[in-house]
Amino acid sequence: MTQNAEAKLTWLNEVLGVGKDDESEEELQQKGFFESIGEMVSGAVDTVVKLVSGPEPTEEQKKLNAKVDTLEKLGLDTKRLKSDGVDQAKKLEAAAKITDEAERKAAIDLVNKRIEELEQHAAALEAAAKSVMGSTKGAPNATQKAAIYKKALEDHYGLAIQIPSGMSNTHMDRVYDMMGTVPKGQAKHDKLDKLEYIDTNDYKGSGAYGGTTIKMGDFGDASGMENYTVDGKTLPANSFDVTTLHELGHALDSKEGIMAAHMSKTGCGGWKTESKDSTIDALVAFFKKKVKVSDKMTEAMVRSAIDSALGGAIPAAPDGAEEADWDKVRDFLGDYPMKIRSGYSPWFKEPVDVDGRAYIQSYSTRWNSYSVAARAPTLVNKYQWRAPGEWFAEVYAISWLKKTKPPAAVDKAVAEYMWKP
Ligand SMILES: [Zn+2]
Repeated sequence: MTQNAEAKLTWLNEVLGVGKDDESEEELQQKGFFESIGEMVSGAVDTVVKLVSGPEPTEEQKKLNAKVDTLEKLGLDTKRLKSDGVDQAKKLEAAAKITDEAERKAAIDLVNKRIEELEQHAAALEAAAKSVMGSTKGAPNATQKAAIYKKALEDHYGLAIQIPSGMSNTHMDRVYDMMGTVPKGQAKHDKLDKLEYIDTNDYKGSGAYGGTTIKMGDFGDASGMENYTVDGKTLPANSFDVTTLHELGHALDSKEGIMAAHMSKTGCGGWKTESKDSTIDALVAFFKKKVKVSDKMTEAMVRSAIDSALGGAIPAAPDGAEEADWDKVRDFLGDYPMKIRSGYSPWFKEPVDVDGRAYIQSYSTRWNSYSVAARAPTLVNKYQWRAPGEWFAEVYAISWLKKTKPPAAVDKAVAEYMWKP
């Protein structure tokens, strides 16, 4: 890259957040930044795609750039696609610097393949736009836009899409952007074939994955934001986009069995599958170690009290129990089993440390524990600590959304599925 190009890229990084990992496009948009200088950004990003790839863009880059131009002429938003193009241009530049010829060629081929995927992602959108718009001139209206992205999602990613009648705020353009931002093999596979929208209150602002279906709730205008953390740095994330990626993460995990294979590693949270019984065993052992009671408070009494508390009820003192003993048991029940129940949403609270492990009733019949020491180094947010699958989905989502490496402590094998420089 020439010095001038370098300076220009630095300027873009600083002023626009283009191609930078820690600046949020959403945040800038919220400030109305892009609206005022939208045209300028658009031109500048095109220039960067060319600049960072050296004097001559590859054939793949030329095709991608041409598709981006076409989509813009059709009145479609290309911001994410362009940022994906810039990302690949940077990777191409890095690949070109590899000294070993065979390695260099292999690396360049790999990046060009990915650029080709982006070009096909764009081409499918163009084809859908032409099919929906026919001979209609001008930019698509909201209804036409939804139809375009629905068709592109069906045709290019093989999704069957179900939308409740009257639900218009589906943001399928953003789903399409997110599916394009990850490698195609992570978006289109046999564990994902349906996108179902739900407009009921219980799904407001949330998503889910099960079977081979992603469910997306009503996110309103999809401008809501939430904070993630990577290696201590706060990353604001658009809730709709990050949720879409989160559900894509679940589908990928289901396909590849990622957490099934790696969850017990410290770099994955040190998870262990538990049952209600094994959780009770751990709590009884911890009680015996931590709390001194008289012989009148038998282990069976403690066990039964913990069992009740995990079910959400602090029982009455058992017959024959000393009041002083029972006070201690009741305090323990309030501090430990009561705070593990799923009804308490323990994942949104601080971990309940039981001899170095945090036990969680993840769902009504599913119990897990994780290593408290493994939490801080691999933490991206609180919800990550509900279950092994959520751990993966949250790390995956923020990594791809912000095009940032997962926390440094995340296991290498698992980080392979995430964004890499
Ligand atoms: Zn989830």
